[in-house]
Amino acid sequence: NKAKKTILVTGGAGFIGSNFLSYFLDKYNNYYIINVDKLTYAGTLDNITEELNHKNHRFVKGDICNRELIEHLFAEHNIQAIIHFAAESHVDNSIEGPEVFIRTNINGTFTLLDVAKTHWMQGPHSYRKGYENCRFLHVSTDEVYGSLGDTGLFTEKTPYAPNSPYSASKAASDMLVRSYYHTYGLNTVITNCSNNYGLKQHDEKLIPTIIRNAIQGKAIPIYGDGKNVRDWLYVKDHCLGIDLAFHQGKAGETYNIGGRNERENIYIAKKICTILDKHRPRADGQSYQNQITYVTDRPGHDRRYAIDATKIERELNWLASENFESGIEKTVQWYLEKYQ
Ligand code: NAD
Repeated sequence: NKAKKTILVTGGAGFIGSNFLSYFLDKYNNYYIINVDKLTYAGTLDNITEELNHKNHRFVKGDICNRELIEHLFAEHNIQAIIHFAAESHVDNSIEGPEVFIRTNINGTFTLLDVAKTHWMQGPHSYRKGYENCRFLHVSTDEVYGSLGDTGLFTEKTPYAPNSPYSASKAASDMLVRSYYHTYGLNTVITNCSNNYGLKQHDEKLIPTIIRNAIQGKAIPIYGDGKNVRDWLYVKDHCLGIDLAFHQGKAGETYNIGGRNERENIYIAKKICTILDKHRPRADGQSYQNQITYVTDRPGHDRRYAIDATKIERELNWLASENFESGIEKTVQWYLEKYQ
């Protein structure tokens, strides 16, 4: 694999990482990917069964906080780029047990940044010969910006105001990435993306939970009044945005990625029920909507997120291919097979 550029992908057995891996390996033949993933409860090799045998991919079970391991991978494979997905990602878990979020999201990102800097650079703002194009792409979330009122959009200039331990840990990691650009001149790019949905998302997340509980005849839980708004993006469109930011983004820049698909949680639940009514009607002929149940709101629940994606659209020609209604059809079909 000497002729190929080697990329360290972290968290490639999770939801977005695994979708990215299949997208990227299909599209490019000039990269070799080392995929390091700890396989926490959120990651599984079932997400990458096809990719495991791909000639341009090697899976390594490991922790991004393990500096020795990361240094070893850099030395062994002469890593020339990082695309960093690995994180603790579930807000509810961060409320119950924030510590692991601090460890993985903050310390883990720091470890990767620092090993990359040491391997690629000989001093501040000075890359070693042959490493000039090495890039660190950090995958982050729009939740770092906090919550919006009924109007307005997050732009790349919106001040950070994270409200959950999850978003605070991601905000801290973004700041570390930023500092490695400004202080050391590390070639970094950050993407801040809105809520993803699609194939292979973990069972604990909103959309898989709605589908699973519906077809298992259980209550479909919706927080608060159901009017919290998220800006939904089909995961493959996120992958395209990361691809463009990785290849064409400007060093030190941030790109917001979002599909201009703001939807209330209650709309999401009803829409999924309608699709299920069509494809897997309930035995009693009633709608799945009857199973929707409002539950006590999540503490610190952000009311609304919405992304202004103008920068990535204009500068990198990114365009989402799915709107929520087309993407959710595909997603529901996939989960219907998974949950039977
Ligand atoms: P996920 O929870 O599905 O996957 C995370 C992966 O990281 C898992 O495979 C897990 O095993 C691995 N991991 C966790 N801790 C690790 C560690 N210490 N060392 C190595 N691997 C570890 O998450 P996701 O939804 O795929 O999110 C991926 C990234 O995208 C995260 O950084 C998240 O903040 C960001 N993001 C997610 C969304 C979303 O809607 N899901 C939106 C915007 C940004």
